[in-house]
Amino acid sequence: MKTNKLLIKTKKGLSKDIQNILPDYEPKLNKSRRFIPVCAPDIRGNELKYVKDCLSTNWISSAGSYVKRFENSFSHACQTKYGVSCSSGTAALHLALASLGIGPGDEVIVPTFTMIATANTVVYTGAKPVFVDADQNTWNIDSSLIEKSITKKTKAIIVVHTYGYPADMETVVALARKHCLFVIEDACEAHGATYKGKSVGSLADVACFSFYGNKILTTGEGGMLVTNKKNIADIARTLRDHGFSKRRHFWHEHVGFNYRMTNLQAAIGLAQTERINQLVRHRIENAKLYKKCLKGIKGIVFPPESSDRGNVFWLYTVLIEKSFKVSRNNLRCLLADEGIETRPVFIPVHLQPVYYQDCFSGHFPVAEDLCSRGLCLPSAGLLLKKHIELIAGLINKYSDQR
Ligand SMILES: *Cc1c(COP(=O)(O)O)cnc(C)c1O
Repeated sequence: MKTNKLLIKTKKGLSKDIQNILPDYEPKLNKSRRFIPVCAPDIRGNELKYVKDCLSTNWISSAGSYVKRFENSFSHACQTKYGVSCSSGTAALHLALASLGIGPGDEVIVPTFTMIATANTVVYTGAKPVFVDADQNTWNIDSSLIEKSITKKTKAIIVVHTYGYPADMETVVALARKHCLFVIEDACEAHGATYKGKSVGSLADVACFSFYGNKILTTGEGGMLVTNKKNIADIARTLRDHGFSKRRHFWHEHVGFNYRMTNLQAAIGLAQTERINQLVRHRIENAKLYKKCLKGIKGIVFPPESSDRGNVFWLYTVLIEKSFKVSRNNLRCLLADEGIETRPVFIPVHLQPVYYQDCFSGHFPVAEDLCSRGLCLPSAGLLLKKHIELIAGLINKYSDQR
């Protein structure tokens, strides 16, 4: 039994014990027998050929032709007109917010159950993130809780398609329309996902993707903003590149950033986009096999699925219930000892020391519950059938432990 407390305190003097919500420290991976990483890229297409082409033609910066080709092909795959590549998913989110004119004095609604960059980028602009709890069934922002968080200062809502499962876009977009707000899709985990037959990325004003090494489609590091709105694409493109004026060199009408993507990254991205269907299919096949193998085990909650939303299962994530014989934290240790790397789910943003102190921390029971029970299993597209069967077999074995 744990008796030690981990108290976090707000500046208002409120305190909360989060010891039982937080995942334990990382277990030690025993790689002596095998190592199954939680994620790894699949770069077996034209990646090497295109990168070699960049090197042999001497085009390695952001001025090379692969950048435009990648932007065109990826935005096309998202059913959007414009793509603005950049250095990371975080940069894409910051560019999106800045392009919409969000800044000091504004509020932006974000789910608390997400990766930290979703909230941080709001802070970069000088605006304030306002957190909303997760939905028990979808793990995405609970759209029924959004309206009461809207104030006169609210300018935008960011939705995250968590672990590849599309958020409740119809409700969010209708709310945004009613209150004249922008909607940004944080689609960093959801390449290729669909919502009522439409591609994620095309469902709101602007969407952001990450191409970090563990994402479904990768350029090592990288990101892209996609949109159907020319004015947003134009300003994002300018802000990405120091706010350079197109007409006169070294002339600046905006405070821009350097968020450019290199030709080398774009070369990899183009090759990845050529195989996007295959990369997505592998994630879905992994999920099917996991579900089949884990089905009979008591105390495991499967990731959300529904007939009108195409989950792409970026990380195959399950919840470990009380009826499972060992805790989530102990299960991670047992798997780590077998050389199997896992991740806990996100620690909600409202519990992060940097946010808890300054913002008032509300009541977010669903996000906290997910945090205490969620487990991301190995999910690489290249994962072998026998690996999934092994992992599921071990989980089955531990479920019988007393
Ligand atoms: C990965 C991720 C990001 C950040 O992407 P980077 O490329 O690492 O900057 C942002 N939001 C979500 C939801 C993510 O999963």
